[in-house]
Amino acid sequence: MILRSVISSNQSYSRTLTNMTLLSPTPSHFHMPQNSPKNKNVAVIGAGSAGLVTARELHREGHSVVVFERENQLGGTWVYTPATESDPIGIDPNREIAHSSLYLSLRVNLPRKVMGYRDYPFVAKKKPNRDPRRYPGHKEVLDYLKDFAVDFGLIGLVRFGMEVGHVGLLENGKWKVSSKKRENDVVFVHEEYDAVVICNGHYTEPRTADIPGLEVWPGKQIHSHNYRVPDPFRDQVVVLIGSAASATDISREIAEVAKEVHISSRSATSGVPLKLPGYDNVWQHSMIESVGIDGGVNFRDGSKVLADIILHCTGYKYHFPFLETNGIVTVDDNRVGPLYKHIFPPAFAPSLSFVGLPWKVIPFPLCELQSKWIAGILSGRISLPSKEDMNADIEAFYSSMEASCIPKRYTHNMDDYQFDYDDWLAAECGSPLSEEWRKQMYFISRKNKKTQPETYRDQWDDDDLIIQAHEDFVKYIPELAQAQKLPR
Ligand SMILES: Cc1cc2nc3c(=O)[nH]c(=O)nc-3n(C[C@H](O)[C@H](O)[C@H](O)COP(=O)(O)OP(=O)(O)OC[C@H]3O[C@@H](n4cnc5c(N)ncnc54)[C@H](O)[C@@H]3O)c2cc1C
Repeated sequence: MILRSVISSNQSYSRTLTNMTLLSPTPSHFHMPQNSPKNKNVAVIGAGSAGLVTARELHREGHSVVVFERENQLGGTWVYTPATESDPIGIDPNREIAHSSLYLSLRVNLPRKVMGYRDYPFVAKKKPNRDPRRYPGHKEVLDYLKDFAVDFGLIGLVRFGMEVGHVGLLENGKWKVSSKKRENDVVFVHEEYDAVVICNGHYTEPRTADIPGLEVWPGKQIHSHNYRVPDPFRDQVVVLIGSAASATDISREIAEVAKEVHISSRSATSGVPLKLPGYDNVWQHSMIESVGIDGGVNFRDGSKVLADIILHCTGYKYHFPFLETNGIVTVDDNRVGPLYKHIFPPAFAPSLSFVGLPWKVIPFPLCELQSKWIAGILSGRISLPSKEDMNADIEAFYSSMEASCIPKRYTHNMDDYQFDYDDWLAAECGSPLSEEWRKQMYFISRKNKKTQPETYRDQWDDDDLIIQAHEDFVKYIPELAQAQKLPR
């Protein structure tokens, strides 16, 4: 019964584009090829939420796994640091990198039950210093990832403090991975692996708006990657560019201390600046036309403000400085390609793969399915189509984007078809499809985030879905059946 309802609701979420590109041309096919070594030596780059679940899936499948992590702890994005980079706008290629873009006050923007891995529910734990809220603060996510790593015995697979500087294909078909101690060493260790899975995250390399006049504009500029606390904005006139989740949170937070906040976004529909409801010092503007030497910021709506700071909440670039593929895999206007199903470059499949590229998604369960698929393919349990068929699928995808006038930079945006994608992967892996409660909870929370950005984390009316999720989780955590109070 559950299966049937999932399939029928999928139909309403899917788009023609999606159906065409995701559901063809690969049928599910499971087979175990003869004379092919089943277990591979696999290097995973990164021990964030993508790298950890990848390590688990590869390990479960019987592969040997080494995870390279340049930081001294796991968690990637979820390791908050008060440190910011020497170049606050993040353009200088020689700057010391701060990996995480978290700000101190950040609470997750998805209900925790939606956010967690499929078979390792992100439920509140009765342990000291844990955050039981439905939308917990960032530390709770890090604690969850640490629990996950411990419970699946992953810590011993990770080489902490080891930065991968180069990955390249050898003549024998293996990958050379060169790594070094991040802190002090210049000496690289060179090793060979059968396969490499890249899980290095994509929220570290800032993208900034290209605005005429910025080179002479005298104010300060900062990218949200380097935003931590509102204090530096006290009494300042701030222009904030962007309208995604971080922009919404940060604009409200700095409004508490700033003199004025002017939000510039593509989505502004009015021809004139509008005051943000509930705020005396926040205005919504159209996009910026230009900035001037007098400190002026001129908006397309004809308005102008004299600003002290421009805060770019304008997103990030995919960045793989270590990857050498002779130009076969490229990043072009934030399209990483060519990639079959956002994972495998056909020329190198299946020995090179990427986990975690899609955005506007629920990342943890999506990465879980991506890595399950990769693990099964590497062992020969699941097979890929021919290179020609993979290339044809990619071409069809790109052509359909072009025909729909969708810019390249949205290639990995899965806003309205992530569940079709997840379910396609699940079917390939022989795993259950996405849970109906997860889909519904996701869409409700997305709507609430839009309509009540200040309160969606603390007010909701989908308790019925919380109960359904809870019932589902009992199969992974039997103790939940005895819970006195329904965990949120
Ligand atoms: C501000 C912000 C808020 C977010 N909020 C949410 C949310 O509420 N819910 C949600 O589900 N998602 C959220 N996300 C998305 C979040 O990024 C993903 O949930 C997820 O953490 C991404 O995991 P990842 O493993 O792909 O990348 P990361 O977490 O970035 O991990 C990548 C790892 O790779 C390592 N690495 C990179 N390069 C190298 C190298 N050369 N050698 C060795 N190691 C390397 C890094 O040190 C890092 O540990 C948010 C993201 C941001 C930026």
